[in-house]
Amino acid sequence: MIVSPMRALMGLAVLAIALPQAASAAWMDRTEAIMGTRVYVQVWADDPVKGDEAIEAVMAEMRRIDDLMSHYKPESQLSQINQRGNSEPVQVDKELFDLIKLSTYYSQITDGAFDITYASVGYLYDYRKHIHPTEAQIQAALPAVNWRNMILDEAHHTVRFGHPGMRIDLGGIGKGYAVDRGAAILKARGIEHAVVTAGGDSRLIGDHMGRPWVIAIQHPDNPQKVVTRIPVSDTAVSTSGDYERYFDENGVRYHHIIDPRTGHSASQVRSATILAPTATQTDGMSKTAFVLGAERTLEIINRMHDFDAVFVNPDGKVLYSNGLRPPKPRPGDAAPASTAASPRG
Ligand code: ADP
Ligand code: MG
Repeated sequence: MIVSPMRALMGLAVLAIALPQAASAAWMDRTEAIMGTRVYVQVWADDPVKGDEAIEAVMAEMRRIDDLMSHYKPESQLSQINQRGNSEPVQVDKELFDLIKLSTYYSQITDGAFDITYASVGYLYDYRKHIHPTEAQIQAALPAVNWRNMILDEAHHTVRFGHPGMRIDLGGIGKGYAVDRGAAILKARGIEHAVVTAGGDSRLIGDHMGRPWVIAIQHPDNPQKVVTRIPVSDTAVSTSGDYERYFDENGVRYHHIIDPRTGHSASQVRSATILAPTATQTDGMSKTAFVLGAERTLEIINRMHDFDAVFVNPDGKVLYSNGLRPPKPRPGDAAPASTAASPRG
C-alpha cells in the first residue's frame, strides 16, 4: 500500500493499492508550501509533460488565491478589508466577495459556530510562540465577533464592518475553496484520477486504479494510529483537529479553532471529518462540532443532503453520521457482515 506523504501533516491519510502501471502513464505528485500550509497534488497522467503542467497550474492557482485572501499579506484584498473596513466600505473582487458571502451561509446553518469574524479575537493567539490572550483581553475583543455585523453590498462588492475592532479571516474556508478550484483545473485538463490537498482539506477525483481511495482518520493523540478507515471516490473530505496547530499550558490545550461565543479554543470534540461533494462545503462544516458538540452537529449534518461526518469525542468515542452507519438489521436478515462503513447513498 502507498501511504500519502501528507499523513503526518494532515491528520488524514489517503491510502491506495499499488498495481502494475502502464509504461508511459504514471502517478505524479508534488508538495509545496502555500497558504501557510502544505499543498499536495497527485494526478494520474498518461503523458508526464501534461501531468506536470496540470500540477503546476493547480499550484499557480493556489498562489493566486493566497495573494488575494491571505491575512498574512498586508497587500492582499482581505487585508485591505481588515485595515479599512472599520472606516469605509472596501471594494474587492467578486470572487472574494462571494466567498465572504458564502461564509455567512455557513454561519447561518451552524448557529454561528462558523464565523470568519472569529479573527477579531483569534489574532490575539499565536500558537507557534505559545501566546494566548488574557480573559480581560478576550472580553474586550469579543463584542467584535459577530458575522451579522459585516455589511455586504452585493451590487458594489464592498465589505464594511459595523462594529469597532472587527477583523475577518478565511483560514476556515479558503483552503477548501482553493482545493475545489484546483480540482476544476485538473478536470478541465482531462485528468480523471487525482488528489488535491491543502491543509486538512482534500478532493479525491475519480478512483485509484479502479479501487476506492481510502481515507484514514488519525487518532488525535497518535499520528501512527488510525481511528477508522472509509473507502470513497469522487468526494471531498476535510478533517479538523485540536492537534493541528496548538500548544498546551497548565493542562489547557490552546488550539486554532475558536468558539465565537467565548473567544476560547473550542473543545467539544478532538477531531471532526466531513464528507461532501466539494471541499468548500466540507471545510465550511468541519469546525462546527468543536463549538456545538458532536450530537448537535450530527443533527445538522444528517439533515444535509450528500453530507457525512465522523467525530472523535474527548473520551475517545467515535460518532458517525447516518450515511456512514451500518444499516440496522431488519427482521429475517442474516447476521450482518462486519462492515466499517455502509455504502454512501
Ligand atoms: P486547516 O487550516 O488545516 O484546513 P481547519 O479547516 O480546521 O484547518 O481550519 C482551521 C482554521 O479555521 C483556523 O486556523 C482559523 O483560521 C479558522 N477558524 C478558527 N475558528 C473558526 C471559527 N469559529 N469559524 C471560522 N473559522 C475559524
Ligand atoms: Mg480546512
